[in-house]
Amino acid sequence: MEHIPEMSREELEKALEKAQRDMQEMLEKMTPEEREQADRRAKQLIEEDQASIQKLLDDAARLTASAPKETPKFCANCGAAVSGGKFCAYCGSPL
Ligand SMILES: [Zn+2]
Repeated sequence: MEHIPEMSREELEKALEKAQRDMQEMLEKMTPEEREQADRRAKQLIEEDQASIQKLLDDAARLTASAPKETPKFCANCGAAVSGGKFCAYCGSPL
């Protein structure tokens, strides 16, 4: 069974900082249009559910710890992160 260690507040803040840095790096590689869409989507998520943000951060921390070196991909249409496949899971655009 998978054991997920509880994070201390300090670790959580570090993970949050790292996630923000990673996000910043990704944003810098985007076109202004994509950036705006991703930004809008992030804000939407925050408004929708703070708890889901926490979950995303936890997942992101876990993924960055164990992820294979893969270039993160984003839908050019809606800015959603996509994990492979030919179409965006959110808006259905071809990737
Ligand atoms: Zn999309």
